[in-house]
Amino acid sequence: MSTRVPALPDFRRIVVKVGSSLLVDSSAGRLREEWLRALCEDIAWLHGGKRDLLAVSSGSIALGRSVLKLPRGALALEDSQAAAAVGQIALARIWAENLGTRGITAGQILVTLGDTEERRRYLNARSTIDRLLEWKSVPVINENDTVATTEIRYGDNDRLAARVATMVSADLLVLLSDIDGLYDAPPGSGVAANLIPVVERITPEIESMAGASGSELSRGGMVTKIEAGKIATTAGTHMVIASGKTMHPLRAIADGGRCTWFLTPANPVTARKKWIAGALEPKGTLHIDAGAVAALRRGASLLPAGVKRFEGTFQRGDAVTVRDLDGAEIARGLVAYDAEDAMKIVGRSSADILTILGFSGRTEMIHRDDLVLSGR
Ligand code: GLU
Repeated sequence: MSTRVPALPDFRRIVVKVGSSLLVDSSAGRLREEWLRALCEDIAWLHGGKRDLLAVSSGSIALGRSVLKLPRGALALEDSQAAAAVGQIALARIWAENLGTRGITAGQILVTLGDTEERRRYLNARSTIDRLLEWKSVPVINENDTVATTEIRYGDNDRLAARVATMVSADLLVLLSDIDGLYDAPPGSGVAANLIPVVERITPEIESMAGASGSELSRGGMVTKIEAGKIATTAGTHMVIASGKTMHPLRAIADGGRCTWFLTPANPVTARKKWIAGALEPKGTLHIDAGAVAALRRGASLLPAGVKRFEGTFQRGDAVTVRDLDGAEIARGLVAYDAEDAMKIVGRSSADILTILGFSGRTEMIHRDDLVLSGR
């Protein structure tokens, strides 16, 4: 029985991960400009249809390596970090130019593990990316390889891309690499291998199909791609692994080309809201007035003006419970201010935040995307 695979244009927010071996020709040590141009045409095509597009681009180390003419073979950590410093500048320019000629503004975001895993930094990274997307820019994201040491780095952009995709509630993650999908036996193992078009659930059997190999330039082999698949599908993001070797790789997926789909039964917004509603332990309670209760029920954000008082010692990004003045639970959400700052702005207009706190914080106490109404 064949399962219907989703169509690319059906998605509204797509993260495209591009591996180093696609951007940089390893034998010549040169950028594959023509290929990138074709990819950017695909991106512009999807973007033009009112979708949000994000690129997670590897290649800083590989490009730096070729600019610096470093010898082939493994690099010491300091060498790869210094190479990344050189290569990232080139990488950002290349993306900015290629998207720019199609009328799209690129915005560079360099992240470390902490930015996606620590709550308060996570919120910052997410807000910046959200704003870029509101402005219709295409964020171009890479790990900040120049400062990330072994213990605190992802090391591979497959998992990084999956975390970025879940962070921004993308509904699709596309991993473009030098392999066109998942095979039922590791390529090169001697056994005839067949491509698996659809993975409905990542079972131990699926995991065992991933060999441990990666190509010379990129770090991620199939193992990290399956890991990425787990991160993505648990959070309600579909994932597709496809070859980036063809000239218009996204068009090729849309046209039903060879690839492997990892499907998720969930959707990213409900998965995230479920996580906010259930999995977190609230660190405090905000008591809000009747006007704010009505606003929340209409789908609005919670503004400081509607909060009458609160209890708890929470930090920005912590989960809190929202109650009406009779104590009935109205919602749960992630609060945008530490308790200390919240103390100063409750009951006040958002326009006064800058004067009161001395910095321009968020307009909302809890943004509607971070808020789940209780009992509905
Ligand atoms: N962040 C690394 C780079 O840009 C690549 C990691 C990977 O290949 O997955 O060179």
